[in-house]
Amino acid sequence: MYSQKFNYFHGIMFHHFHDDRIYKYGQGSISKEDFINIINYIGRKNIINADEFYLKSIENKLNENEVCLTFDDGIKCQHDIALPILDDQKIKAFFFVYSSLFDGNPDLLEVYRYFRINYFNNIDEFYDLFFSIIKINLDKFFLENDHIISSNSKKFPHYSTNDIKFRLVRDMFLTSQEYEAIMFKIFDKYEFDPKLYYKRLFMSADDLKNIDFNGHIIGLHSHSHPTLMEKLPFNEQYMEYDKNREVLSKILKKNKSNFKCMSHPCGSYNEDTKNALYQLGVQLGFKQIMTVEKERNMQKLNNSSLEIARQDHADIMSMMQK
Ligand SMILES: [Zn+2]
Repeated sequence: MYSQKFNYFHGIMFHHFHDDRIYKYGQGSISKEDFINIINYIGRKNIINADEFYLKSIENKLNENEVCLTFDDGIKCQHDIALPILDDQKIKAFFFVYSSLFDGNPDLLEVYRYFRINYFNNIDEFYDLFFSIIKINLDKFFLENDHIISSNSKKFPHYSTNDIKFRLVRDMFLTSQEYEAIMFKIFDKYEFDPKLYYKRLFMSADDLKNIDFNGHIIGLHSHSHPTLMEKLPFNEQYMEYDKNREVLSKILKKNKSNFKCMSHPCGSYNEDTKNALYQLGVQLGFKQIMTVEKERNMQKLNNSSLEIARQDHADIMSMMQK
């Protein structure tokens, strides 16, 4: 049973859903049936509503077995596939949404993913092409970062070694501009126009309003979704979250001070992030791993109210198969 495996409160993190009609199966995506099975496996009674999770967390009253459901990135398939199930099961969840997707100039993370899934037979075919475009020998870089690769394999059990190497090259070896330039070079080769896919991949302002109207909590997830927030100076981090709540508050016609919950994009944060968030009045934040980070001097899970652990749905899927 799930609740016997983990005796501390945490979030369950969802990203992609497929329905084999509009939304194709891809790396880590789950169907509506999988989603229902996950809810049953966790046990419906252990899942509490987002507002209750938030209130109990600030009062330090969360029980060990209690979990909440969280959805990151404002992805359209969450609205179309997961939302009806949530409403059906009367579960109120958190939706952490980065806001550049509403200003016509979204972060392209989702578009990259769509491209990888639809234009290649498998993910390694894409990785091979991607690595081959970087002319400099990557073997040396991988060798030098061997310890990071092995510690990340433990932190993210659902990632393959290639997944981890790709993220390392993207986030550490390349600047974000260099990464984008390489991706656009590949897009050109495949005559792929990213703009044509925004509508299908991202939630609209109306989707967001609909989620809010149904009683779910919309939370922060930065404005432009940097893959390594911790690399940015304090003022840029502050701006990321300030702009994020400004855009969301306009769409939802809510005061900026209403946004008290968040999740860290790609799980990246540092002390500056926490300080910026506290200054913005944020009280509850989620990361995306379930391990105690000794290298960050953490003694326990849920290290602070801005560092609540989350379990990736992909890991629950593999537990269910055992
Ligand atoms: Zn994200």
